[in-house]
Amino acid sequence: MTAAKRIAIRAGYVIAFDGRGHRLLRDGVVVIEGDSIVHVGPRFDGRVDETLDASDRVLTPGLISTHAHIGGSPLDRSFLEDRGNPQFWYSGLFEMLPVRSEAQDEEAGRACVDFSMAELLRGGVTTVMEIGTLGEYVVERAPHYGLRVYMGQAFRSGKWLTKDGTRVEWEWNEEQGRQGLERAIDFHTRWDGAHGDLVRCFVSPSQIDTCTPDLLKDAKRFADEVRRPYQVHTSQSVVEFNEMVARHGKTPIAWMKDLGVLGRNTVLGHAIIIGGSSWTNYPDGDIRLMAEAGCSVAHAVWVFARRGVAMESFRRYREAGVNMSLGTDTNPQSVIEAMRWAAVVSKMMERNTEATTAAHAFDAATLGGARALLRDDLGRIAPGAKADLVLWKASSWRMTPIRDPVKNIVYNASDEDVDRVYVNGRLVVDGGRVQGADEGAILGALQAGGERMWPRMTKSDWAGRGADQLSPQTYREWGD
Ligand SMILES: [Zn+2]
Repeated sequence: MTAAKRIAIRAGYVIAFDGRGHRLLRDGVVVIEGDSIVHVGPRFDGRVDETLDASDRVLTPGLISTHAHIGGSPLDRSFLEDRGNPQFWYSGLFEMLPVRSEAQDEEAGRACVDFSMAELLRGGVTTVMEIGTLGEYVVERAPHYGLRVYMGQAFRSGKWLTKDGTRVEWEWNEEQGRQGLERAIDFHTRWDGAHGDLVRCFVSPSQIDTCTPDLLKDAKRFADEVRRPYQVHTSQSVVEFNEMVARHGKTPIAWMKDLGVLGRNTVLGHAIIIGGSSWTNYPDGDIRLMAEAGCSVAHAVWVFARRGVAMESFRRYREAGVNMSLGTDTNPQSVIEAMRWAAVVSKMMERNTEATTAAHAFDAATLGGARALLRDDLGRIAPGAKADLVLWKASSWRMTPIRDPVKNIVYNASDEDVDRVYVNGRLVVDGGRVQGADEGAILGALQAGGERMWPRMTKSDWAGRGADQLSPQTYREWGD
């Protein structure tokens, strides 16, 4: 076996990790060998096989999304926006999303996976935690695009539905939940560590209100045994919060603590509608419970902000010691935008410019994500870490003038500013182009998937409404 090539990247700005936190290293050198970073510093005198002159660029760790549904989210676009039922406190979970998901076919799901992997990479995301049911296809496509994936095959014992747009009901089938957990365990056995460890698995009971206590506990036991994250959608709607309080006499998060499923490997999907939030008007305490448990929050700010719902607040969670990470969830699947929205919404909630800064947002997108994944070799540029890197343009419409590169990225940058992306040392985006992506084919397949889905919605809506009734065009048709 020949030794792996050593590549030195000389960048004008490097966001490097010194063991305590990210630091700004000007005119730095990062040396990668195989899938790892072997050196970071102001200079390197050892032998290298290749040197990349990136003096006009910014080198950062790859971004991490800890909450995604890449097999469906792209098809939220052009439908879910601007519509919400006050009966469900504007959550889209009970009417709009089920209609959309049921009308989507499997071919469209695969089109979403391809679209998403390319979309994430070109936005500088190098690791995604995917919650869904298309695990086999996700595992197959990850090495094609070169995206690092944590796959959580979702399962649950119940589902919610509304028959009248007024009330939410839960239908239970514990046998289905049990089989789902068995399948997830089997999936883990087959695929965890696949493709040279590019793919790992985690355990994902879908939602706190659709899983029985035994199913949640057994799933947690498995996650502990295999030392993988355990992610559950929790405190994501007022309907769910009130239902859980009615069932158990405590908040969803307090209930999880009592069940013994709130631990260091627990990632709470959302945790926005909690005790202490004005959305619940319920006594405080959940933030403290999360901090004491050492769990993580996958904060998908945009999917809520779009509906007028906000975490109260990112700063309070962070200052209490909750590990904050960022998720992309719906579309656009952009951690750049997630950082921007997380910072801005927190400032608005706190009425304080300094409440959540670029550093807090960038830390959540890198170190916080790595911590949620129980990894100390991701989300940082340090010797021994994986070579998951993003080279950003320093000279562009969004990045010039450059003085503070992280402020420019968090408050200004777009996907267009991502020049190169490396995952495991492999160049997967070059000149802004995703190497494995046939853009025309990907966009065509997604459009076709939408065109098959929209007309089917009449069948899945409780009132038989079609896409145009559920989500009217922004402007009326010409001549109307
Ligand atoms: Zn989700």
